Amino acid sequence: MSPTEKLPAAAPTPTFGPGSVTVPPPGDPATFVDLQAEIRELARQHDAVILAHSYERAEIQDVADHVGDSLRLSRVAATAPQSTIVFCGVSFMAETAKILSPGKRVLLPDLAAGCSLADSITVDQLRNWKAEHRGAVVVSYVNTTAAVKAESDYCCTSSNARAVIDSIPPDRQILFLPDMFLGLWLQRVTGRKLHIWLGECHVHAGIRPSDIEELRREEPGAELLVHPECGCTSQVMEMAGVDAHILSTEGMVTYAQKSTAETFLIATETGILHRLELKAPGKRFVPVNREAVCQYMKLTTLEKLRDSLRLGQFEIDVPADIAARARRALERMIAIA
Ligand code: SF4
Repeated sequence: MSPTEKLPAAAPTPTFGPGSVTVPPPGDPATFVDLQAEIRELARQHDAVILAHSYERAEIQDVADHVGDSLRLSRVAATAPQSTIVFCGVSFMAETAKILSPGKRVLLPDLAAGCSLADSITVDQLRNWKAEHRGAVVVSYVNTTAAVKAESDYCCTSSNARAVIDSIPPDRQILFLPDMFLGLWLQRVTGRKLHIWLGECHVHAGIRPSDIEELRREEPGAELLVHPECGCTSQVMEMAGVDAHILSTEGMVTYAQKSTAETFLIATETGILHRLELKAPGKRFVPVNREAVCQYMKLTTLEKLRDSLRLGQFEIDVPADIAARARRALERMIAIA
């Protein structure tokens, strides 16, 4: 991976992936009610709030206090009154919660829950890139390690990335990292020339224009909702006759609730379907690619969540100097709606 001014016209073959991560099989639904009751009781005993990303298993979303995307959960983490945060998500999210709530105990139920997108840039690579563009403003997507955030001026999520770019004076150069598809989309909608890092999420990069073309023929009346991390985002915006809505996961939920359409084609990780069905009942949601499943997000099971609360595992910590510098970039992210 390297920074580039010249981007590929189509998604390259995903470079990063879950490698040796072994995803536990689906749980037995007959056990869910008892496990969820045990988890709720443990959370009460340990003064814990349970946060779950919208890509988590349905039974994890159902037992959580709050479900949402990174921006929503970051805001909750920063203000939750409980002394412990259990983050059902991936490691950069738990790190973010710790940075925003340094006095709280933050637990991640499975330490193997990483992120191929966060792995696509190291802090040394970022330092070298900054050295090539002295004075540029660094905007990092929230899917980055704490060390990379500490080297950044702003963080953003897909919900507020456009607003963050718009807030930067037009005469400043911007380094955007690490997701190239989000970067390309931002370049298009803001009209700004960005320097874009060639990183990608292996799940979203695998969602191709051909997946959408096929479904459009089968579901001609459906609305198309696309997450900007997808490998198809730029091509979709150019497809003739396709009215695509490029949205964050929270944006998809809000849009589906308000729209009068009955059927939606969803281009993102399939865990969001559970949340969409819950929040917009009576509507139909069809995944553009049924294999768009994040193995890291599916590592968290009810048993692991229960053990995390019971045993206080696995506690996430971020060195104070890194946390202090990363917090600046995160607080700017939270402040920009
Ligand atoms: S879906 Fe992609 S970006 Fe999200 S956690 Fe999984 S690997 Fe990372």
